[in-house]
Amino acid sequence: MANVSQDDLLFDDSAGKPKEACGVFGLYSREISCELAQRTYFGLYALQHRGQESAGIAISDGERTLAMRDMGLVSQVFDERKLESLEGGHIALGHVRYSTTGSASWENAQPEFHGRGEVNVAVAHNGNLVNTAELRHDLEGEGFEFESTSDTAAIAACAVGELEKGYSAAEAILRTMRRLRGAYSVAMIFRDKLVAFRDPHGFRPLCIGKVEGGYAVSSETCGLDIIGSEFLREIEPGEVVVIDDEGLKSYRGEEERRALCVFEYVYFARPDSRFDGREVGGSRQRMGEILAEEAPAEADVVIPVPDSGIMAATGYSHRSGIPFGEGLIKNRYVGRTFIAPTDGMRQVGLRLKLNPLPSVIKGKRVVVIDDSIVRGNTARKLVGLLFDAGAKEVHFRVSSPPVTGPCYYGIDMDDRKGLVGANYTVEEIREQIGATTLAYISVEGMTAATEQSGKGLCRACFDGDYPLPGTTKKLALEKVTAVVENQA
Ligand code: SF4
Repeated sequence: MANVSQDDLLFDDSAGKPKEACGVFGLYSREISCELAQRTYFGLYALQHRGQESAGIAISDGERTLAMRDMGLVSQVFDERKLESLEGGHIALGHVRYSTTGSASWENAQPEFHGRGEVNVAVAHNGNLVNTAELRHDLEGEGFEFESTSDTAAIAACAVGELEKGYSAAEAILRTMRRLRGAYSVAMIFRDKLVAFRDPHGFRPLCIGKVEGGYAVSSETCGLDIIGSEFLREIEPGEVVVIDDEGLKSYRGEEERRALCVFEYVYFARPDSRFDGREVGGSRQRMGEILAEEAPAEADVVIPVPDSGIMAATGYSHRSGIPFGEGLIKNRYVGRTFIAPTDGMRQVGLRLKLNPLPSVIKGKRVVVIDDSIVRGNTARKLVGLLFDAGAKEVHFRVSSPPVTGPCYYGIDMDDRKGLVGANYTVEEIREQIGATTLAYISVEGMTAATEQSGKGLCRACFDGDYPLPGTTKKLALEKVTAVVENQA
């Protein structure tokens, strides 16, 4: 049994989960122009789980684009007065960010503006290019200068370069996409158009909805739902969508092997979002059911690690017949703070995050369900916490397979040496975290739960099959520096 104090348990909670890169939102409508900034705010509010470092909104009337962006949560960056100051256009762009390349600084908050001479664009991007360094080198040779360190600047410069040559918005983006390698779901304002496009593999999601007199684009359907937008469809991998006063036009670029990130199903996307018409929460529940079949346990109670383990724990409980219990209570009001805490104060903050409920745990054989184990520190601390709260046995079950490789496509996780699943056997990990038993769902089981063919998914961090050949190292421009580390 792990001998871990509660202080230790809650001190370093942030390291346990990979971080999503960004959320993208866009709106085009003359009918609701008086509410454009407000609706974008709510769209971003729904996408907040995809990035908590910075938030921004740009509004354009087709000639002039105003933007406001800052470090912090959507609700910290914007208030009613600021949103009012953004009214007066019919095209909106919104972004929430967690940096995977480029530092976590105001300069890297989005939407970003890029331009040269008469050609200017505002850009919001989710993903990560794998050829940023070489692309920037080429673009510098074409006379572009870069102030921002994010790969978004390179995408924008490519587009500006093509637009300067006189290509239409659609053609300019299709030409741009031929130069990009990696993951990108992008929304962009260019003059009187909202343009949205997705990389040929479709690593990151992006969908379109209908609003009064126009259209919305959003990283996830939950961003459409919140503003009452009717979901139309997903933007296809390799597709460019151009929205203006003439309506919506679609252009197809190259499509390659589809590779929607399976981690969107496991952890990133909100459970009420839908991919291919299926709720993510349903997939998570099936992961729990399949996990119960693959890795049964003799136990008295199934408890989730809140919030992300809840759906899988429900499925595990349902399939195994072991009662479900809320044995870990999460303080839902602990958000990310941008006030740099002293070490002592950080402990105070994190201690409020997760607390065991002895009445559910004491004297019981507990199955605890988490969505993933990346470094193993959090799992070890959790097991210690459960034993300290009186658990007789702790059977750790994970609704994704061991993470054995890093992500190069927009998810921030450790390189190989920091990944416990890449360096130890399941039995060695069990010993390290101090659990009575430990088991993960299989890659096949996880895939079956998504109801997608394995060929349509990226599962590279689990099975090493990277969809972009030659992806061997992360081409970050600088070391990622988190502003603070206590992400909820
Ligand atoms: S490597 Fe993993 S986290 Fe990255 S896109 Fe593929 S499945 Fe998602």
